[in-house]
Amino acid sequence: MTESLFAEASQRLDAALQHISISEDAIEHLKYPKSSLQVSIPVRMDNGSLKIFQGYRVRYDDTRGPTKGGIRYHPNVSLDEVKSLAFWMTFKCAVMDIPFGGAKGGITIDPKQLSKFELERLSRGYIDAIADFIGPDVDIAAPDVQTNPIIMGWMMDQYNIIQRKIVPAVITGKPLSMGGSLGRDTATGMGTFFAIEALMPKFQVTPKDTTVAVQGFGNAGSVVAELLCRAGYKVVAVSDSKGGIYAQDGLDIPSVRQFKNSTRDLKAVYCEGTICNIVDYRTISNEELLALDVDILVPAALENQITESNADGVRAKYIFEAANGPITAAADAILAAKGIHVFPDILINAGGVTVSYFEWVQNRSGLYWTVDEVNDRLKQKMVTETERIWSIAQEKSISMRTAAYVHALNRIGAAINAKGNRDYYVS
Ligand code: GLU
Repeated sequence: MTESLFAEASQRLDAALQHISISEDAIEHLKYPKSSLQVSIPVRMDNGSLKIFQGYRVRYDDTRGPTKGGIRYHPNVSLDEVKSLAFWMTFKCAVMDIPFGGAKGGITIDPKQLSKFELERLSRGYIDAIADFIGPDVDIAAPDVQTNPIIMGWMMDQYNIIQRKIVPAVITGKPLSMGGSLGRDTATGMGTFFAIEALMPKFQVTPKDTTVAVQGFGNAGSVVAELLCRAGYKVVAVSDSKGGIYAQDGLDIPSVRQFKNSTRDLKAVYCEGTICNIVDYRTISNEELLALDVDILVPAALENQITESNADGVRAKYIFEAANGPITAAADAILAAKGIHVFPDILINAGGVTVSYFEWVQNRSGLYWTVDEVNDRLKQKMVTETERIWSIAQEKSISMRTAAYVHALNRIGAAINAKGNRDYYVS
């Protein structure tokens, strides 16, 4: 891909601007990130050598509140990618009406190449480098691709050491024992599931006749696959970064998850207790998974998976974007022409940041909620905002993606206008 991801991401904003009247000030404001930081992180490796890693944190817009967003560890992390992800977070928080702006962070690294000691030193070094840029009232971090509660715990601890006080609300997705929230680990997948359950009845689709393929078996993909399987959907294919598995009669996802957790291997198994037996299946590539003849496709891995070059081969009827940016703007047009319904990332994967907000609220109030309280509130938010976006899409005859941007822009635009715009000063 030669075009910048950010240029690509901005095209979605341009599409939405055609359906909304919003002040010129707001449009101008949203073209640029508020601030971008690039840092070099020195890490002493286990063999005694010194390596310098590149890290980033971008705060895109804070008009609606402190900025919020995860930290990604991946070899493809770049300033362009982090900026795009921060842009999406701005719209995601507005879609969910949570009082945050958008940010994102990342380190260009394949974490699987580091020992646990090196990973800890890198994570603490990243916080040393960005400590002046973040804070519970300024910019709040969280997990993203290939980061997890343990890493969040190291990061919070490092921030506490720097501040000489305990500041749990600077980072969400922490271990429970350090102020994390119940339900945060499953929140992204569960939010996706609630949105699917709210939307599918509109197409007279019932779970038992619905086949599903999920690309990505991480925090989002594995949870949504399991919830769909338990709700009676036939999940026929799942994949991880190494490839996928397909079983025509459906996979027993709880067993697949149990097996993957204990062996790191993605295999079609059926487990009774700790005994897992391989069932009939075939292996498929990620590319094949995206082209399966299924009802629902859930891309839950990385951005730019469905592009101009493979969109034509997609046969699913409904696509739910559990990943950030899995479909390019050019692919969107191809899918729309084929009559495929696409439900956008800034709504579909917003469960993660929503429960991150709940975690921040709990940290600041000091009162902790039960898992049912967390999940009930998450469900209520997901269903409410899904219905609102659905109504906008119907009213204006626009895609769910454009409707989600319109919905978010109404909220962001109102906040920008509240500080005064050209009409206020000049008229
Ligand atoms: N990394 C997640 C996302 O892309 C969660 C962000 C957060 O919890 O702040 O939405």
